[in-house]
Amino acid sequence: MKNEPCKQLTRVAYFCMEYALQSSMKTFAGGLGILAGDYMKAAKDSSCSVIGIGILWKQGYGGQAVDSTGRVHDKYCNYKYDFLQDTGVKVTVDIKDKEVTCKVWKVDCFGNSPVYLLDTDIPENDNANVKLRWVTSKLYGGVEEERLAQEIVLGVGGVRALRKLGIETDVYHFNEGHAAFAGFELIREKMAGGLDFEEALERTREQIVFTTHTPVKEGNEKHPINALVYMGANLGLSGQQLERIGGSPFNMTVAGLRLCKAANAVSRLHAVTANKMWENIEDRPYIIPITNGIHRPTWVDMRLHRHIADGETIWKHHQENKKKLLSFVHKRTGHKLLEESITIGFARRAVDYKRPDLFMRNIEDFEALVKKWNVQIIFSGKAHPLDDSGKRVLENLIALSKKYPQNVVFIKNYDMEIAQRLVQGCDVWLNSPRRPNEACGTSGMKAAMNGVLNLSVLDGWWPESCIDGVNGWQFGDGFESTDAGIVDEWDRKKLIEVFDNHVAPTYYEDRQRWIEMMRSSINTTWDAFDIKRMINEYYEKMYTPSEKNR
Ligand SMILES: *Cc1c(COP(=O)(O)O)cnc(C)c1O
Repeated sequence: MKNEPCKQLTRVAYFCMEYALQSSMKTFAGGLGILAGDYMKAAKDSSCSVIGIGILWKQGYGGQAVDSTGRVHDKYCNYKYDFLQDTGVKVTVDIKDKEVTCKVWKVDCFGNSPVYLLDTDIPENDNANVKLRWVTSKLYGGVEEERLAQEIVLGVGGVRALRKLGIETDVYHFNEGHAAFAGFELIREKMAGGLDFEEALERTREQIVFTTHTPVKEGNEKHPINALVYMGANLGLSGQQLERIGGSPFNMTVAGLRLCKAANAVSRLHAVTANKMWENIEDRPYIIPITNGIHRPTWVDMRLHRHIADGETIWKHHQENKKKLLSFVHKRTGHKLLEESITIGFARRAVDYKRPDLFMRNIEDFEALVKKWNVQIIFSGKAHPLDDSGKRVLENLIALSKKYPQNVVFIKNYDMEIAQRLVQGCDVWLNSPRRPNEACGTSGMKAAMNGVLNLSVLDGWWPESCIDGVNGWQFGDGFESTDAGIVDEWDRKKLIEVFDNHVAPTYYEDRQRWIEMMRSSINTTWDAFDIKRMINEYYEKMYTPSEKNR
């Protein structure tokens, strides 16, 4: 056994816009929050000195209602939580020259390291400007000013909360660029202590590590330098100094890269993409790959443990999980699905590049395939309230579920509970992003460890694990083109080909081989994609002081 890095000595504060620790917690949008939640639990399991800083989103990411005609409507509500502990601590930040008070809550009851959530929805903020109560209302909601205000709360408020809570910190880990202003606060503190800007920046860098998640260039948030100054995010730094850190316009990812001593991408392929994407950005570290992992106790049926489960046991437990899923689906949607039919799961945020409708883009092909093999596909997803194209994608899926009630099901308001049921109870986990846009895709890991076979393009984590036809399948052969229409049609054809020639025949005609593949799926992913491996890599390659890699 390799020595584990010492996890008590390095004190880490992890900054993230979203956390998903438990199903009732609506303070997340997708994979970023799930990763943060899983990380906090695994940090606790391994007794790491890690705490989380985030925001108490009163209305979360928003949800969706579907009317009788199949139209999707936004639905926001104010969530009330009974798991919040009042720390008694309040800090202030300046937003547009107004002092805003942030109350600090603590969450530590889900088997997680403490997560501190900042909240501006308190009476103190009525006096200043009523609107500021709503800074922590909608996750990723609103226009530029609102976003910057939220990021001031997370970054600047977050560092101030640490000080006031008396939590000493060696490493500040920014999970995505949203926390970049925490770097400004660390610089400001040092400049207040007498250092000049360059020295303060240099020392601050030694304290920060950064994880990037976004291989889609437009997905990397930017703001005009003026907007930062206008909102007061600059904390006294000049326009030139801001530009030195984040460029102009100010790019939050570039800032993350320039503020840190070490940076990682979330899979090997993503590291290649990310280094290429930022190759013109000087004065940044090389972006190393540290592939995400999952918190097994949260997602995996532990009866499938790779050391105890034989083929027969795996199949028996899988069928039980499938039965539970189908009855859950019946309760939620009224669709009655069959236990004997091959069941495909697809659940993600509804965004274009994930192509949830890839299978159905040629409706004749789809219909023929589905009838031939009695295919059942269960979709779940959520579109951002401001994303109309995402909502149209959902409406298309809903229409299909009405047209083919035996074959297509849509479960609205994707959340942790739906995810848990699906990744345990489906037979196949479909993943069809347009390469190389999926940074990692941890839902596939959850499925794989539950013996649910991945059918995926070679994107995100899958190239690291896929042994085609042994522990799952790939389709598309890594084909890329700048023309989205061409890739989509290529991948669609390959998907149908692989499903028709390999997946369905194995399921119906060679059950022994199918079960053997389930075993391989479990065995090849069980340890490799356990989040403990990821944490060890964080300590070895990012947290623990090492030679400079800039
Ligand atoms: C695991 C999970 C995700 C992230 O998985 P992807 O494969 O990136 O979609 C997102 N949302 C929920 C609810 C999850 O459980």
